[in-house]
Amino acid sequence: MQRITVIPGDGIGPEVTRGACDVVAASGAAVRFHEVPAGQRAEREHGTPLPGAVFESVSETKIALKGPTQTPFGGDYRIHVERRDAAGKTRRSSYPSIAIALRRELELYVAVRPSKNYPGVPSHFENVDLLIFRENSEDLYIGMERMIDEGTAEAIKIISLRATERVTRFALEYMRKLKRRRLTIGHKANVMKLTDGLFLKTAQETARAFPDIAVEQRVVDALCMELVMRPGEYDALLLPNLYGDIVSDLAAGLVGGLGVAPGANFGPDCAMFEAVHGTAPDIAGKDLANPMAMILTAVMMLRYMNEGQAADRIERALAAVLREGRAVTRDLGGEAGTRAMTDAIIEQMR
Ligand code: ATP
Repeated sequence: MQRITVIPGDGIGPEVTRGACDVVAASGAAVRFHEVPAGQRAEREHGTPLPGAVFESVSETKIALKGPTQTPFGGDYRIHVERRDAAGKTRRSSYPSIAIALRRELELYVAVRPSKNYPGVPSHFENVDLLIFRENSEDLYIGMERMIDEGTAEAIKIISLRATERVTRFALEYMRKLKRRRLTIGHKANVMKLTDGLFLKTAQETARAFPDIAVEQRVVDALCMELVMRPGEYDALLLPNLYGDIVSDLAAGLVGGLGVAPGANFGPDCAMFEAVHGTAPDIAGKDLANPMAMILTAVMMLRYMNEGQAADRIERALAAVLREGRAVTRDLGGEAGTRAMTDAIIEQMR
C-alpha cells in the first residue's frame, strides 16, 4: 500500500484535492492518504504556512499530491524554512512562495505539464498535444530581489550548466519513454546572451546524446505567437523557469483553460504532483472549481506509481463524463458543481 502525502492548500485547493483523492480511492489503486496542512490555513492554525510536518511526511512517502497554496503579493513576505541536515545541523532558508520553497527544499528540479485536447472540452483548437518541461530550480525564481534605492529594484537571474543539463536529460529520457520525437527549446538568447545563451547551448549539447529526438529552438516571444496560431505543430517544449511558468498557462488556454491542465514536479528523491492552476479565490469555497486538472494530476501520479490500470480507469471515466457533457462544471459549459462532477466520474467507474 503506497502512502501519499496530501496537501489540500488554499482557495479551491481543498475542494479539488478532495475530488482527486475520492476518484483515486474509487479507482482501485492501492494507496493511503496522509493529509498535512500548508498555506494560509496552516499559518492560522500552526503559526507557519509551511509546517515541518510536510517535510516529515514527504521524506517518508516520497510522493505528494498538492493543491495550490496562496502567497500574499508584494512587500517582503517570505516563507521561512528550518530543517535539520544529515549531520544534525539546523539550516534556515527563506523563499518567495510556498510552492517555490517546496520545489527547492525537495529538489524538485523539473515540472512536467501536459496540455492536450479532450473531446467535450470547449477549445479553439482540436489537435493540441503538448508536453512542457519547465526548469524548476533557478532563473529569476531564486527570489534574490532587492531595492537598490527608493525608485529602483533589482532581481538576479541564475542559469547554470548543471541545472540545464539535468533538466534537458530528464526531458529527453521522459520523451523517449512516451515515444515523443520533437523537442523545442524556448529561450531569449538573442537578448539574455549569457544566461539564456548558456541554457540554449547546454540544452543543445546535452541533446546530442539523444539522436532519436529532433531538437530545435525558438525565441520565446515568437514561440508564444506560433503556439497560439499553430499549436498542433509542437510536440514537447523545454523552457527555463520563468518562461516555463508563463508558457504553461498559455498552453492551458489552448486546450480549455486552467481547469483542465495537470502537472507534476520531479526530483532525485521524490515527486510532487500539482495542477497548473492557482488558488482561484474568485470561485473558492463555492463548489464551482473544475476538479479535472487535479484529477488528471492524480492520473499522472498513478502512472508514476505504476498503477497504470487505475489511471486508465479514471481517464476513461473522465472522458465519458466529458463526452456526455451533463455533469461538467461551468468553465466547460455545464452547470454541475465540483462535487457533482467528481461523483459523476466515480459513478462511471462502478
Ligand atoms: P493564485 O494567486 O493562487 O495564482 P489566481 O486566481 O491569480 O490565483 P489561478 O488560480 O491560477 O490564478 O486562476 C486564474 C483564474 O482561472 C481563476 O480566477 C479562475 O477563474 C480560473 N480557474 C483556475 N483554476 C480553475 C479551476 N480548477 N476551475 C475553474 N476555473 C479555474
